[in-house]
Amino acid sequence: MSEKHGVIVVGGGMAGLVAAAYLARAGADVLLLEKNERCGGLVNTFTRDGFRFEGGVRALVSAGIIFPMMQELGITLDTLPNRVSVGVEDRIMHVTSPESLQDYLALLKGLYPESTAEIERVGAVVRRVMREMRVLYGMSNPAFNDFRSDKRYFFGTFLPWFFRFLLTLVNIAAMRGPVEPYLDRIVKQRALRDIISQHFFRGTPTFFAMSYFYLYNDYFYPKGGVGKLVEALEQKIHEFGGKIKTGAEITAVHAGEKWVSDRDGRRYEYGELVWAADLKTLYRITQTAGCAPAAASAFAAQKQRVLAGRGADSVFTVYAAVAEPPETFAAISHGHFFYTPSRLGLGEIHRAELRALLQDWASHSRAEVLAWLDRFCERNTYEIAIPALKDPEAAPPGQTGLIISTLFDYALVKKVQESGWYEDFKAEMERRILNVLAASIYPMLRDKVRFVFSTSPLTIEAVAGSSEGAIVGWSFEEPIPVTAQMLKINDAIKTPLPHIAQAGQWAYSPTGVPTAILTGKLAADRVIAQRRRGGG
Ligand SMILES: Cc1cc2nc3c(=O)[nH]c(=O)nc-3n(C[C@H](O)[C@H](O)[C@H](O)COP(=O)(O)OP(=O)(O)OC[C@H]3O[C@@H](n4cnc5c(N)ncnc54)[C@H](O)[C@@H]3O)c2cc1C
Repeated sequence: MSEKHGVIVVGGGMAGLVAAAYLARAGADVLLLEKNERCGGLVNTFTRDGFRFEGGVRALVSAGIIFPMMQELGITLDTLPNRVSVGVEDRIMHVTSPESLQDYLALLKGLYPESTAEIERVGAVVRRVMREMRVLYGMSNPAFNDFRSDKRYFFGTFLPWFFRFLLTLVNIAAMRGPVEPYLDRIVKQRALRDIISQHFFRGTPTFFAMSYFYLYNDYFYPKGGVGKLVEALEQKIHEFGGKIKTGAEITAVHAGEKWVSDRDGRRYEYGELVWAADLKTLYRITQTAGCAPAAASAFAAQKQRVLAGRGADSVFTVYAAVAEPPETFAAISHGHFFYTPSRLGLGEIHRAELRALLQDWASHSRAEVLAWLDRFCERNTYEIAIPALKDPEAAPPGQTGLIISTLFDYALVKKVQESGWYEDFKAEMERRILNVLAASIYPMLRDKVRFVFSTSPLTIEAVAGSSEGAIVGWSFEEPIPVTAQMLKINDAIKTPLPHIAQAGQWAYSPTGVPTAILTGKLAADRVIAQRRRGGG
C-alpha cells in the first residue's frame, strides 16, 4: 500500500494544521497525517455528560499572530473575553486592564506587609516588561503581513516599529536568565518569591515570566472552546484542496528515498516533508541511508543534541462537574483563575524534597510519597479554568465544570506507574486537590461534585506523543537543542536534511500556541519557495 503526495505534514496540532492550510492554499498537493482520531494535539476541547472541558491550552493569546493568521486564511470565529483573576488565601483581585497591576501589588502587600519596597521593585520590573510587550505583540507579525507590497505600510508603520522592536530585543536579551535567581536578587522573602513565581516552568526566562501580567489582558476564548480554531483550520485545509488522514501514526521516515510509513505499514511518498510533532520521535525514527553524506552526518550530530534535551514541565489536571450554578463561581473569580491557597509558598517541596524522593525512590514508602503530596497540594498554585463563566453553553443549566491544573513532574508519575499504583495515585491527587480547594475558596466541592476525573503528564505523553509529557516544548533547565533567538526564527524550521522541515513547539524556544502557528507558517513558506525553485 503506497500513496504519493507533493508535501506530507506529520502532526495535526496547531503547527501542522497551519502548515497544511497555507500549503493547500498555495496549491500544493498536501496530505496531513495525524496519529489520533482527532486533530488539535494540545489544543483540544471535549465534552463529557454535557460539560465542556479543555484538554490542553485553556484560552488563547493572539500575540500578533493568531488574529492575523485567521484573517489571512479567511477564518472567522466568535470570540469571547477570557478574564483573569489572581488569588492567595482569601484575597482575590480581578484583572480588568494593565492598570490592575496596582491591585495585584496591593494584594501582595496585604499578605507580606514587611516586603512593601520589594513588591514595588517587582512592580517596576513588570511595568517595564509590559511596555516591551506592547512593542512585541502590538503589531501583526511580519510573517502574516505581506508588507513588501504595501509601501506606505512598510515605511509608515513597519519600519518605525522595527527599530523599536530591535531595542526591545536588546532589553529582552538583558532579561534572558532564569526568573528564580533574578527574583532572588530583588526579593529577600522566600515565600513572596514563591507566590510570584511558582506557577512558572522551572528556569523560565525572566522576561517571559514577567510578561504574564500583559498576557492576562490579551487572552480570548473562542465561543464553543479553543477546539473551534482546530475545526476552522481543518475546514480551510479541505476547502483549499488539502487532505487530512487521522489514525495514521508515523513510525518510520526514510529520508533518502523520501517516504514515511505508519503503524499499519501504509507507505506515503513525499516531495517535501514537514514534521510538526515531537522532535525526539523524528530523530529516533529517521533513516538517512541514501542522503548526501554531509547532510546525514549533520543529522546524526543534531540527533545527539535532540535526544539529550528534555521536555519542559508538565501538568496534572483535575476535571470536576459541580452541581452549583456558574453565578456562585462568578461571585468568587473570573473564568480563568490563578489561585494559591497558602501564602507560605512551595519552598523546597517541589525542588530539593522532590529530588530527594526521586533519587532514592525505592527507599520511600507509599505513605511517604503521599505525605509529600499533602504538602505539595496545600502550598501549590492552581490554574482554574471555568468555561461556563466565559460561555454559558459550556455546562448544563445550573451547573459548572471546573478545570483545575498544576505544574507536575513527569518523572514522579512515571515512577509511580512503574511501581504499579498509577490509578490510585490519580485518585489521591484528585482527592487532595478538591479538599484543599474545598477548605479554602470552594466549600461546595465537599458535597456537590457530580463526577471527577483527571489527566497526568503520562496522559499528555500518550495523547500528543509529547516527550516527558511536556506542554510547551523544551525544558529551560537543560541545553536547548533548537533556535532560541527571535531574529533567527526563520532558521528554527530547518533540519539538516533539505527535504524535511520542522515546525511546532519543539522547533523553537520559548514557545506555545502562537509560536507553533508561526513556525507552521514559516515551514509552509519555505516549502512553497523550495517547490517554486524546483518547479514543484
Ligand atoms: C494544559 C496546557 C496549558 C497550556 N497553556 C498554554 C498557554 O497558556 N499559552 C500557550 O501559548 N500555550 C499553552 N500550552 C501549550 C500549547 O498548547 C502547545 O505548545 C501547542 O498547542 C503545541 O502545538 P504543536 O502543533 O506544536 O504540537 P502538538 O499540539 O503537540 O501537536 C502535535 C500533533 O502531532 C501528533 N503526532 C505526534 N506524533 C505523531 C506521529 N508519530 N505521527 C503522526 N502524528 C503524530 C499528535 O497527536 C499531535 O496532534 C498549553 C498546553 C497545555 C497542555
